[in-house]
Formats: sequence, C-alpha cells, structure tokens
Amino acid sequence: MKNHNCINCGNKLLGRLDKKYCSSNCKNQYNYNRRKNTKFETRGIDSILHRNREILDTIMGPKRFKMEISKTELSLMGFQYKYITGIHTNSKGKLYHIVYNFAWMEFTEQKVLIVKNRKLK
Ligand SMILES: [Zn+2]
Repeated sequence: MKNHNCINCGNKLLGRLDKKYCSSNCKNQYNYNRRKNTKFETRGIDSILHRNREILDTIMGPKRFKMEISKTELSLMGFQYKYITGIHTNSKGKLYHIVYNFAWMEFTEQKVLIVKNRKLK
C-alpha cells in the first residue's frame, strides 16, 4: 500500500488519499521551498539570458526593429551566443535564435542580423 504522508513534514495523513499536506502551513512551506529552490538553481542561466536580452535591447535602441551587427562586437559586449530561449526556422530555412522578445540569425561569417518584436516568417 502506498504511503499516505504529508509531503512537507512526513506526518501521517488522515482522510482523502489525494490530500498531500497535513495543514495549510505545510502546503505554504512546501511551495515556498520549491520556489526558493527553483530560484536558486536557475539564477546563473537566468542572469546570462537577461544580460543577453539587455545587450540586444541596448544595441537596437527604442526605434529600430532590425539591424546587422558584427559577431565580434556582440561578443565584446558580453553576449553569449549559446544562451537562447527558443529556436525558429523560417519558411526560407533561416535559423533564428530567440532571446525573449529578440531574435538573431547568422547573416554571414562575421555578421548577425538582429530582429525585435517580430513574427518570424
Ligand atoms: Zn505536514
């Protein structure tokens, strides 16, 4: 038979088998710890991604939605190419690397194209 214990403190649970906690206190504590753990385990990569987005945002400025930039220049600003939030191949087979509301695409050997807030077609 399956154990029926509070997943936070391990106390035996009485009543319904789908109950997971012995009290709302245990429920809150369990969820708090889980969130804290996620925050801790993801902070390194999160900050790299946030930095990547900030770099693209800074380069692009408020008015542009598309531009070319040299790969080296982007690297020198601290951009880390391998950290992306998604990937998209458009109808022409071009591979876009998504970083939140931005995306970049390898344009030539030395250059990348950056786009902002666009539907990637
Ligand atoms: Zn408990």
